[in-house]
Amino acid sequence: METKYIFVTGGVVSSLGKGIISSSLACLLNAHGYRVTIQKFDPYINIDPGTLNPYEHGECYVTEDGHEADLDLGHYERFTNVPTSRANNVTTGRIYQNVIEKERHGDYLGKTVQIIPHITDEIKRNVKLLGDTGKFDFIITEIGGTVGDIESLPFLEAVRQLRWELGDSALCIHLTYVPYLHAAKELKTKPTQHSVKQLQQLGIQPDVLVLRTEHDIPEGMRAKIAQFCNVAKDAVIQSLDCPSIYEVPLMLHSQNMDEIVLRKMHVPVYGEPLLKPWLDFVEKINTAEKEVSIGLVGKYVELQDAYKSINESLFQAATYCHHKLNLKYIHSEKLTEENVEEMMADLDGVIIAPGFGNRGIEGKFVALKWCRENDVPTFGICLGMQCMVIEFARNVLGYKDANSTEMNPNTSHNVIDMMEEQKHISDMGGTMRLGAYDCRLATGSLVAEAYGRTDISERHRHRYEFNNSYREEFEAAGMRCSGVNPKSGLVEVVEIPGKRWMVGTQYHPEYSSTVLNPHPLFMSFMKAAIKYQTEKEGLTTNS
Ligand code: GLN
Repeated sequence: METKYIFVTGGVVSSLGKGIISSSLACLLNAHGYRVTIQKFDPYINIDPGTLNPYEHGECYVTEDGHEADLDLGHYERFTNVPTSRANNVTTGRIYQNVIEKERHGDYLGKTVQIIPHITDEIKRNVKLLGDTGKFDFIITEIGGTVGDIESLPFLEAVRQLRWELGDSALCIHLTYVPYLHAAKELKTKPTQHSVKQLQQLGIQPDVLVLRTEHDIPEGMRAKIAQFCNVAKDAVIQSLDCPSIYEVPLMLHSQNMDEIVLRKMHVPVYGEPLLKPWLDFVEKINTAEKEVSIGLVGKYVELQDAYKSINESLFQAATYCHHKLNLKYIHSEKLTEENVEEMMADLDGVIIAPGFGNRGIEGKFVALKWCRENDVPTFGICLGMQCMVIEFARNVLGYKDANSTEMNPNTSHNVIDMMEEQKHISDMGGTMRLGAYDCRLATGSLVAEAYGRTDISERHRHRYEFNNSYREEFEAAGMRCSGVNPKSGLVEVVEIPGKRWMVGTQYHPEYSSTVLNPHPLFMSFMKAAIKYQTEKEGLTTNS
């Protein structure tokens, strides 16, 4: 089948969930037996989001090939089970960088280099890169930002041209917001009409409209929107707020969005999509009754999106263990020896979050000491693993000023130190140890048991590492280095045998947990947390 291109734009306000709509549609097309990938085009100048702080765009997601990406790529993978890559996330910065490099190389043969056609051509080339591999039937392209933004104009012009060139092999979906005015007790369609007008002025006629709303939009109102926006009535889909994002594919399917899209593109529909595993998962979400309480210790706790992949991995694992996730955010800057008991006593498991820099670091050590001494299932991820090592060095090995050289370059016990290959690097963007690396797990270790194998590959994003000159001391004192990179010897996993569940990973398992493939380490951690909860309950009933 010739590759088909679907473009997803947004209007009225940002944060409407274009990523979730794109992911949900991909999930449905997958279920119809088609091969789908999703890519995100972001109109900002940064080359990639790697240098952005989480307050800007939330978590930085990492692909297997080591690209620091927008967090929407995490949704794409969680909903489709298909790994993404550098090609799935392109920014204005990357487009300009490519064009400027070509100009310096002399590729434009003396021509004036301009936004149109050179920037738009480069955007079009990038839109088609994944399609040209022949690996996919559908390429869904999400255009970041909102229609009307100056910075997204070249992207929309490229969409207009592609729509024209590709004919029925291209389709445009526009996502808008239908607000509800409480005072008037009315849903309002005007912002949607304006947003579609704006798109039309740019030469793009949407084929499908998705209306984000908090209240059911009556049939008549949808018909009115269809008429004023030149869109077929059945192609006006509503996206009602759902209790879980994982219900969105089912909600879209109940309005036949998948079939409408396929028919519009003249692609055969062979009966009902195979949604059984997805339905089973949603059924588990809705039937779980008992709660499991997990604490997430980090410094960005006021930001929902900063630890997106960890939240979703925990949610998936809890759901598969038939529990509701009660996720409690614990601000590491506020944790002290005095309040740790009060803040953490009711938890069944604790995650120590990844991160950079000094802020909130001491709180992580306080949490870790408390967890280790009270034998609470604990999972340290990246910086969380490094903190686990430092806490152990300080309080078990007795090296009071043990630290990472990231936090204290003059520490006398640099149990976490900068990787050799990092020492000469001065640029910040794209220079960490990034992407998937192999890791060998020690036989008989908790992690090997959790994975059910000893050879794994996981994604990384860090500059510092466990200092191998301390390895023997740690192992003698009870912290096992149970996962090591077979080529470089870098320690990737530590664990404390004899504890309920105390594991730290230098890598980020959260990037590869998906709805249909929950991550084995999160599953193992969740089971340990639930077991601990049951043990605690047993103690209370017995006493
Ligand atoms: N700041 C640490 C490092 O660079 C950990 C990074 C992280 O948690 N992603 O090694």
